[in-house]
Amino acid sequence: MDYEFETRAIHAGQSPDETTGAVVPPVHFTSTYAQDEVGVHKGYEYSRSGNPTRTVLERCLASLEGVRHGLAFSSGLAASDAFLRAALNPGDHILIPDDAYGGTYRLVAKLYEPAGFAYTPVDLSDLAVLDKAWRDETKAVWLETPTNPMLKICDIQAVAALCHGRGALLIVDNTFATPYLQQPVALGADVVIHSTTKYLGGHSDVVGGFLGLNNDELRDRIAFVQNAAGAVPGPMDCYLVVRGAKTLAVRMDRHCLNAGRIAEMLSSENSVERVLYPGLATHPGHDLARRQMRGFGGMVSFIHAGGEEAAVKMCARTKVFTLAESLGAVESLIEHPARMTHASAEGSPLAVDPALVRLSVGIENVDDLIADLRGALDS
Ligand SMILES: *Cc1c(COP(=O)(O)O)cnc(C)c1O
Repeated sequence: MDYEFETRAIHAGQSPDETTGAVVPPVHFTSTYAQDEVGVHKGYEYSRSGNPTRTVLERCLASLEGVRHGLAFSSGLAASDAFLRAALNPGDHILIPDDAYGGTYRLVAKLYEPAGFAYTPVDLSDLAVLDKAWRDETKAVWLETPTNPMLKICDIQAVAALCHGRGALLIVDNTFATPYLQQPVALGADVVIHSTTKYLGGHSDVVGGFLGLNNDELRDRIAFVQNAAGAVPGPMDCYLVVRGAKTLAVRMDRHCLNAGRIAEMLSSENSVERVLYPGLATHPGHDLARRQMRGFGGMVSFIHAGGEEAAVKMCARTKVFTLAESLGAVESLIEHPARMTHASAEGSPLAVDPALVRLSVGIENVDDLIADLRGALDS
């Protein structure tokens, strides 16, 4: 489709049902498909291999990321696992962010490393550090930008050039930015990955994952893993993400606005030591984020000046912000990464500052959100 993003978010991969005219494509709750003759069918045989509702989702998200191929999974980590299996062999080495999503780190460190895959966590926002960590066996770089939970910004174009000069793949976890704010493949990445659980689903009611890419051969290898290992989303999960994606653009605009206001407010609070938000002019990645992203996103982290105990207490005191893991939905969430989302990284190079608080700023009225945070900081 040649249409703009907002139009593709609503229409790509879907059209009214041919038999009934239903404007919303039916959700295909079926595990198997009738064949006219042995081996003669309408393109679907068994729902692990393919399901029409999954096809709608895969086409829609591929269109939003501006890539030829889309593959949907039962979770973001199932998508990560499929990429690692398809792209790497034992003996290969991968660079991951030194503040990678905790589950990505656990997957690589606890499942892949014991199976003979090497990895190094590095600050990928610093190209000199990346260069120093490079080995002959480095076959892929795993980038997150903005990173979680430190919200560092990495230069996708520069890292892609470095990877391609050395025959390695670049995969970018675009969960925080979403395709509305940033399209990594257009900037040179080979593969884009999402936890659709977050902004794409957008309503905290589904767990899912997605991989998007242009390379036909790598697509076939990942599709083989998708079918052979079978971590596929069910039709209801696919439907929920398709529905969520329709409002992605309007939701992201509001997430960005609210997060910007909250980052400014926190910057002027005495009980806050430092605010991490790429939209602040003081953020080291601000200029790069301006170039690489359409907006600065809905995630805000900050270091509580009162240390770990004050940070933990504050998380329990908000009333509009819900104390919970996850992110990217309409409702605002607050969490303590060191004890929650990043607890699995404790004692590792990825351990986070215990005074850090992470906010997933929702799309409620921003004055209510600001009053809620002020109240929790002050009491
Ligand atoms: C949540 C998340 C994942 C993992 O996705 P699941 O759907 O929970 O398996 C990966 N990367 C980032 C940045 C995430 O926030």
